[in-house]
Amino acid sequence: MLLECNATAGQVVVIADQTVANLHFGKLAACLPPDPLVLTFPPGEASKSLEQARDLYDRLASARVERGAIIVTFGGGVAGDLGGFVAATWLRGVRFVQVPTTLLAAVDASVGGKTAVNLPAGKNLVGVFHQPMGVIVDTDFLETLTKEEFASGLAESVKQATVRDPQFFAWHAAHAAGLRNRDASTVSELIARNCEIKAEIVAQDEREAGLRAILNYGHTIGHAVEHLLGYELRHGECVALGMLVENELACARGLLPRTDADRVRNLLEQLGLPTRLPQALDAGEVAALCRVDKKVVGGAVGFVLIRGIGEPVRVADVAPGEIAAALNVIR
Ligand code: NAD
Repeated sequence: MLLECNATAGQVVVIADQTVANLHFGKLAACLPPDPLVLTFPPGEASKSLEQARDLYDRLASARVERGAIIVTFGGGVAGDLGGFVAATWLRGVRFVQVPTTLLAAVDASVGGKTAVNLPAGKNLVGVFHQPMGVIVDTDFLETLTKEEFASGLAESVKQATVRDPQFFAWHAAHAAGLRNRDASTVSELIARNCEIKAEIVAQDEREAGLRAILNYGHTIGHAVEHLLGYELRHGECVALGMLVENELACARGLLPRTDADRVRNLLEQLGLPTRLPQALDAGEVAALCRVDKKVVGGAVGFVLIRGIGEPVRVADVAPGEIAAALNVIR
């Protein structure tokens, strides 16, 4: 792969997760113009912060990076969200290209142009929509992912299939062994289908005025769990738990048949994802975090639930008691 771009010489900037740069920068460098500026940041969700963005701005300023520059984000969802946010805001916005290196970023985070950093009050509260010029997925980079990181990416794929494509949901179950063993053609098929689903949704509703919100299934509770557990669980693991809690909520309302909730739980289990909360969570705190979520409209917490595989439904009247009861089932 050759990144052909008309950036001024010396104005390709790589914003890279330090771990990923150590493992894979040689391969990326072979595809870039010579001597790009490389800015690394410490791995982990803690780097998705205004402080880390500020540090990157300072380094861009020291290097006098101009508006014609192209930023290449290199790493997982954190590199894409943080580097994309910096690209969106540096000099009021420069072009950027995403090179995802986790399965989660390849199937979901790198596509669609959402960039953000976290605040102590909650996840992704400060961000910008800024579309990358392109997303370059090279599955060789995924080979160094741990089993757990790989499975975390599968959770976002299950989410996309569950809200959008019942056949693709069934495909996951049929190919669970190939996915767990990272069979090359199965993984490529998985990534390609996810990118199609995400692109099709984003093309219709880039700014999440309607349809795109279905991709938040599992995330209202998932983000709250992630934040309350101090980001010790992986994002995809929290999304898996979020889907399960939200399904319990839907079952309790009589919206979702138990057989469909069981299908989702069984698939997540087959793919090596957690199906029980690692510790009891304070339901009041979870509900409070749901209220600072971006999906709140007029004070009402918006949830995307499902009433079947491929049938998302938006509800805006979830009471804290319902959240408490659903959390109890998944404990
Ligand atoms: P991550 O970027 O933190 O990567 C997870 C870990 O894997 C890190 O420790 C990283 O150093 C390591 N890593 C990355 N690539 C590797 C490789 N090839 N080999 C070995 N180790 C590697 O996390 P993630 O799970 O990729 O992304 C989660 C983030 O993405 C969350 O902040 C989430 O909010 C965000 N997200 C954004 C969107 C979006 O649309 N913008 C969608 C979904 C998730």
